[in-house]
Amino acid sequence: MSLFKPDYYISSFQAMDIDRLKRAGIRLLLCDIDNTLMAYNEAVPNAKVVAFIDRIKAHGIEVALYSNASKKRAFRFARDLHVSQVYYLSLKPLPFKFWKVIKAHGYTKKEVAILGDQLFTDMLGGHLAGIYTILTAPISKIDRSSTKFTRKFENLVFKHLEKSGFRKGEFDG
Ligand SMILES: [Mg+2]
Repeated sequence: MSLFKPDYYISSFQAMDIDRLKRAGIRLLLCDIDNTLMAYNEAVPNAKVVAFIDRIKAHGIEVALYSNASKKRAFRFARDLHVSQVYYLSLKPLPFKFWKVIKAHGYTKKEVAILGDQLFTDMLGGHLAGIYTILTAPISKIDRSSTKFTRKFENLVFKHLEKSGFRKGEFDG
């Protein structure tokens, strides 16, 4: 079950302690879009997201979007953001695209992190790829229909993780 346990657990992207990332040696942050940076029923980022990405970059950490969303949705979201790349249809939790991206950016696995809201895509994918994993509570309770299904299983995994002292809603820092 440790494949699902995040290295860092936060209530929202705004709560992220960038110094913690820097201490972990992170140089590239890959961000999921849906329910991580915006609600599923939104299409464009709000001012908080723009400020968040600029804040990370000001600390010398590169930011790219890494989403299972379609090209159209990912690029529409990215239009006003200062990210270096937009990776869409990423096929999380499969690790292959992660490895391709890490290589393309010239970093090592240890220098890359994934920020996302789902255990079965973002955390599992990050662990399989061998990178640093950051779980955020989902922005909205509304999920796309395919996600509604996996959330049921996700709650079972959360229950299981409690055995190792990890509790849903008990955030780090
Ligand atoms: Mg998501």
